[in-house]
Amino acid sequence: MKTHTSQKFVVGNWKMHTTSSEAEHLAKGIIEGFDRSEHVTVILCPPFPYLALVGEMLKGTQIALGAQNMYPDKEGAFTGEVSPTMLLDLGCKYVILGHSERRHKLGESDAFINQKVECALSAGLNAILCVGETLEQRNAKQTQAVLDSQLSQGLANVPPEFFSRLSVAYEPVWAIGNSLHHENPQQAQDALLLIRKKLSQICGDFRAQQMIVQYGGSVEPENATAYLGQHDIDGVLIGGASLKADKFLAIVHAAIAENEAEMQPV
Ligand code: PEP
Repeated sequence: MKTHTSQKFVVGNWKMHTTSSEAEHLAKGIIEGFDRSEHVTVILCPPFPYLALVGEMLKGTQIALGAQNMYPDKEGAFTGEVSPTMLLDLGCKYVILGHSERRHKLGESDAFINQKVECALSAGLNAILCVGETLEQRNAKQTQAVLDSQLSQGLANVPPEFFSRLSVAYEPVWAIGNSLHHENPQQAQDALLLIRKKLSQICGDFRAQQMIVQYGGSVEPENATAYLGQHDIDGVLIGGASLKADKFLAIVHAAIAENEAEMQPV
């Protein structure tokens, strides 16, 4: 039996997809198909323009609202940016930070991501910090060095009391949006173990064991149970499959079943 968590996390990252009517339709399908369960935390992260719409729909449900990014300041002259204050005002509980698309396509540095993590946590949000190596880095056997560096830089100077509102998502860059990738659940488990060991060095064994550590990278209904069954995988971050209510719900139900199975006494 696992000891570190009592719930599985399933996060839907809608990225830059949906119109307002598609967002409404998708959220409606997920809300209607989801039965409350103490075995899972479900988080929907729509694009910024639809946070208010989806947030209204999620009121009174057990599904939480999350954002895909934020700027690390409460307010100010930052044209086009969105602050943690605004996210909280819209009902967001979570924010994804350091997603590989923001690191690699938009040039975000570890130092900037670190500012975001600190700012999000001090504002009262729960932060999901994404880390992961590129295929070139994996082939060059740099996975551990990359993860260690992203974690130590991304979490530098984060006060210990904030760690209970932090989770880490391991998302190997080459496995995202690529159903033909060669990542397998055991490789993911191996990387997550490295992550948990590094977290132990950063914030101590107890906090590292308590922390939600997730996997993301082309998780689908067909492979969700295999990932969620790994010892160090407490949840999954879903991109493509979160855009279809039936697929997303199938993964949520796999998470519930896996958590129920793990909670059974051995
Ligand atoms: C993601 O966007 O974080 C992700 C894991 O995407 P996908 O599930 O499409 O690989």
